[in-house]
Amino acid sequence: MDRPDFDVLLAGAGLANGLIALELSDRYPQQKIALVDPTGLRSAIDHTWCLFETDVPSHHWPRLEGLLEARWSGYRVAFPNRSRQLGTGYACITGDRLAAALRDRPRIEIVSRAVTRIGAGAVDLDDGSRMAAPLIIDGRGARASKHLRIGFQKFVGLEVRLRRPHGLDHPIVMDATVAQNGDYRFIYVLPLGPDRLLVEDTRYADGPQLEIPAIETAVLRYARARRWMVADVLRREVGVLPVALDGDIDAYLKQADSPAAEVGLRGAFFHPTTGYSLPDALAVADIVAREATGGTAAVARALQEHARRLWRERGFYRLLNRMLFKAAKGDERYRVLERFYGLPQPLIERFYAGRSTFADKARVLSGRPPVPLWRALKAAPPAWRHAHVSA
Ligand SMILES: Cc1cc2nc3c(=O)[nH]c(=O)nc-3n(C[C@H](O)[C@H](O)[C@H](O)COP(=O)(O)OP(=O)(O)OC[C@H]3O[C@@H](n4cnc5c(N)ncnc54)[C@H](O)[C@@H]3O)c2cc1C
Repeated sequence: MDRPDFDVLLAGAGLANGLIALELSDRYPQQKIALVDPTGLRSAIDHTWCLFETDVPSHHWPRLEGLLEARWSGYRVAFPNRSRQLGTGYACITGDRLAAALRDRPRIEIVSRAVTRIGAGAVDLDDGSRMAAPLIIDGRGARASKHLRIGFQKFVGLEVRLRRPHGLDHPIVMDATVAQNGDYRFIYVLPLGPDRLLVEDTRYADGPQLEIPAIETAVLRYARARRWMVADVLRREVGVLPVALDGDIDAYLKQADSPAAEVGLRGAFFHPTTGYSLPDALAVADIVAREATGGTAAVARALQEHARRLWRERGFYRLLNRMLFKAAKGDERYRVLERFYGLPQPLIERFYAGRSTFADKARVLSGRPPVPLWRALKAAPPAWRHAHVSA
């Protein structure tokens, strides 16, 4: 059974493909676009994606406006020996809003099926049907690979309604004053309404395992300690994100299981340290729209080139990740971030935007890093050392 043909087929209806669909439908309003996902838009709806205002160039903001749930003029961090209020804006979009924007476009069709195979010019679905299109994009989420060495940023969050207003004006992006328990551990708090909070317990750890019930208990304990009386748990959020330590990007890209253009986490488009992919997804949507008329091969080529360039430019962040994971003892990992947050705000902004200058990198590594740099360098296989030091 064949389904009607489309101009664009997007495998996966998550963040990356959702933004691509919106961008393509703005630039090419006549094109028929299919978003194929076994959950329809459900998996997207469960998400909140945030970013710092300085993560993306100003021309991306109009695109985010309609998707924004909350926006703040600054944020806080706290460590055992330092706390600080930063004046960098922080904002979140929600899957609800992304889904509503996608449903609003008459030429975007949501197909609630799993993609089982992507071939040249067509995809097979789990009901035995086939769909064809000159442009096929694969945004089915992270792809495991022996060619990427990763650590994990994992978290469990509860969105709660409180009995009384919490009084927070700004998010707490890291509260690392909590017990570290052998990882780098911090609590992340988003004030989503006067009596509504997202409280998330996050760990930078070597393995992906998560003890969800125990971490939920820790989240509620943290809320109690702050005198936030929880009336209801509205939503749960669980994430295990890759933190890139090292790897061979060429081998990773060659290992793709289809000829489609890969986007999102699957295309290696995420910040190596934070695992955030929203800023990269906006840039990728631009590239896809620019190359779309060339079909799958042109888009895949442009995106692989972009992925390789980002990988080269971001070697410094992978070195810092190795400082965090390989050079620092578990309970002392927080000291790397505590020191980092003593640096000037513009440097911190460029770090999160992935635009650190040579001087920024020297500043981060100079002085007395709290963990030995040589240990982080030694943690990289020899073939990679040069790339990271010079990055
Ligand atoms: C809980 C959580 C919170 C996060 N918060 C942030 C944040 O604040 N800021 C930020 O920048 N990043 C955040 N991230 C990281 C990252 O941006 C997200 O994981 C983001 O959703 C990745 O986008 P993506 O498009 O690659 O994949 P996803 O958004 O995960 O989309 C993949 C889609 O593919 C679908 N799919 C899977 N298999 C198939 C198949 N066979 N056929 C068809 N469809 C399939 C899935 O159902 C899913 O909808 C967060 C991640 C998580 C898990």
